[in-house]
Amino acid sequence: MPIDWTSIPDDDTVGEKLHGRIRELYPIPRSLTGDGVRRTLAVIGSDLPLDVVETPSGTEVFDWVVPREWNVRDAWVEAPDGRRLARFSDSSLNLLGYSVPVDVTLTREELLEHVFTDPAHPDRVPYRTSYWAERWGFCMSQLEVDSLPAGNYHAYIDATLADGSLTYGEVRLAGASSRTVLLTTTVCHPALANDNLSGIVVAAALARALSAQSLRYSYRVVWSPGTIGPLCWLHHNRGLVGEIQHGLAISCVGDRGGVTYKRSRRESTATDRAAEAVLGHHAASTVVDWSPYGGDERQFCAPGFDLPFGAFSRSPADAFPEYHSSDDDLSVVTPEALADSYRTLLAIVDVFERDAVYRNASPYGEPQLGRRGLYRSVGGGASREAAFLWLLSLSDGGASLVDVALKSGIPFAQLADAADRLAEQGLLVAQDTSGR
Ligand code: ZN
Repeated sequence: MPIDWTSIPDDDTVGEKLHGRIRELYPIPRSLTGDGVRRTLAVIGSDLPLDVVETPSGTEVFDWVVPREWNVRDAWVEAPDGRRLARFSDSSLNLLGYSVPVDVTLTREELLEHVFTDPAHPDRVPYRTSYWAERWGFCMSQLEVDSLPAGNYHAYIDATLADGSLTYGEVRLAGASSRTVLLTTTVCHPALANDNLSGIVVAAALARALSAQSLRYSYRVVWSPGTIGPLCWLHHNRGLVGEIQHGLAISCVGDRGGVTYKRSRRESTATDRAAEAVLGHHAASTVVDWSPYGGDERQFCAPGFDLPFGAFSRSPADAFPEYHSSDDDLSVVTPEALADSYRTLLAIVDVFERDAVYRNASPYGEPQLGRRGLYRSVGGGASREAAFLWLLSLSDGGASLVDVALKSGIPFAQLADAADRLAEQGLLVAQDTSGR
């Protein structure tokens, strides 16, 4: 069943709306756990059937243990002249993620042992966390640190690090088959726009668009904190793992770079080939091989799961210059890039939905297309004939439409439409691939 593109909103509207949603979510202080994640999920769940799943601190998930929950009420550093610096209320980026509470007076030198900067980019506040080692700290620009006078400073962090739970959100969409497509994104970063907010809002738009479609596959769209979040999802959904036909980790989809697809660990899965078929016709795209660095795909592709799970981004996570710093702000993400990512992802999903294997029912020489009104007929012209010829040539019961698209260079949607025409004429017969 193809995506009903007529029900998908216009690009300009969609890009502006996505950018507006990022602006709304930007100030919420997200982390690995805590109320910031819940508030973020409440915003994206306002127009989606979103289930919120809580996994208690201390739960063992594979080789990991769900950490304590972190919530911050206030944090700042008071300088000798009374000025308050690195205020959490200005940006959650100013506090080392998972800092334990503190209320101490200390010298400049003692304070600096707890301050993180990026000397290579002296005007930026870097993004730093300490999830798995108990410590406290602040993140500042090197310029600000260089201007700090000698004297006594007051460091104050009013935070709770206590047993609670880890939160993720999930939209479940039932299709004709229980076979499932899994779309995931990361929801743990504080005030950073491209990483993670662009993925958060584009995944929500995809879930909304798909919820209005008649679907072949069932879908799960998941917003979870990095690394431990996908592991919690896998822990709760082990019975579903065998049903997963395709997976995409969506992140950093709002910057001005072209689109990037990173292949799954097996590198030639149906997911990889579907993405390559779409990106091959994108104006600015890159396909890269698997590597064990990256996002959610690291967990889903681990050998024990070995899922056909790729990663979709624009500039890859660490390849845009503002990465993990205060410069990854609202100016880095554009409505045009967000809309393009959304449309490209929908086109990949369209391939998941429409890919099929056909057998040529008239394989002894070329069938006479003119007699059936398929040759030099209205519209389409030579390129449509090319689609017919490629389909008839390669459809031997083994090659799928994606295989034909990659071999011929013809856009997938054009081939799928041509296959429908040939099937109507009895020249192609769809093969049952549900056991594949
Ligand atoms: Zn990140």
